[in-house]
Amino acid sequence: MNKQLRTAIIAGNWKMNKTPSQTKELLEQIAPLTKDAKCEVIACVPFVDLQTALDATKDTNIKIGAENCHWEESGAFTGEISAVMLKEMGIKYVIIGHSERRQYFGETDLTVNKRIRAALNNGLKVILCVGELKEQREQNITAEIVSMQTKIALMGISEAEMKNIIIAYEPVWAIGTGLTATADQAQEVCKIIRDVIASMYNQDIANATTIQYGGSMNDKNADELLSKEDVDGGLIGGASLIAEKFAAIVKAADNN
Ligand code: PEP
Repeated sequence: MNKQLRTAIIAGNWKMNKTPSQTKELLEQIAPLTKDAKCEVIACVPFVDLQTALDATKDTNIKIGAENCHWEESGAFTGEISAVMLKEMGIKYVIIGHSERRQYFGETDLTVNKRIRAALNNGLKVILCVGELKEQREQNITAEIVSMQTKIALMGISEAEMKNIIIAYEPVWAIGTGLTATADQAQEVCKIIRDVIASMYNQDIANATTIQYGGSMNDKNADELLSKEDVDGGLIGGASLIAEKFAAIVKAADNN
C-alpha cells in the first residue's frame, strides 16, 4: 500500500487563538503526550506566538509552523509577514490558502500560488489548503473546484519542490462547524487530488505526497478518517487547542 510510503502528518491550526503565555502552556501540555509519535507533529500558531512556540518545543518532536506568509520579501505591505522573516526565525512550515484566508481576506488561487512560491524560495514546507463550499458540493462540482484550486496553486512548482508540499483537503462546510466529511467522502476527494498531482507531475510524486483531511477532525472520528488509503494525516483546528484531543488524533495517525 502506498500509504506506508508517505509521512503521516498531524498539524494543529490554532487560528487566532492563544497568547504567548497560553501558547507555552498548551505546548507544554501537548509535548509529553506526543513525544513518542511516529507521525510528524506540527503546531501552526499566530505570528506573535512563533518565538515562544519555538522556545517551548526546542527539545521536543513538535515542529512549529506559521498560518500564512506574504509573497513579497519586504516592502509596503502593512500588517503582513514575509517568508524571509519566518525563515530567519527558524520556522519550517507555513499554511497557505486556508479557507478563512480565502473567505475573509480576499485570498485567491493566484495569490495562493504567489505565496507558495515565496515560501518555497525560502525553504519553508507548505501546507496548501483546498476545499469546496457547501453549495459547490451540492452542485456536484467538488472535483472540479478542488482540481482547479490544486492546479493553480501549484503552477510553476517543480517536481523537486513537490517534496516540500503537503496538501490539506478541507471542505469549507466542515471547518469549525462540527460537520465532518464521512471517511468515504474524505477518501474520494483526497484521491482526486492525488490523481491531479499524478497528471501534473507523475505517479511517483503523487504517491509520495502527503494529503491531509481537515474539517472538524477530532479524537472520536480521527481513526476512521485516517484509516483511508489516501488520507495521510489531518489539519486540525478546534481539537488542536485541547492537548488530550490533539494527542489522541496523533495516536490515531500512528495506528493507521
Ligand atoms: C482548520 O481550521 O483547518 C480546521 C480544520 O478547523 P476545525 O478542525 O475546527 O474544523
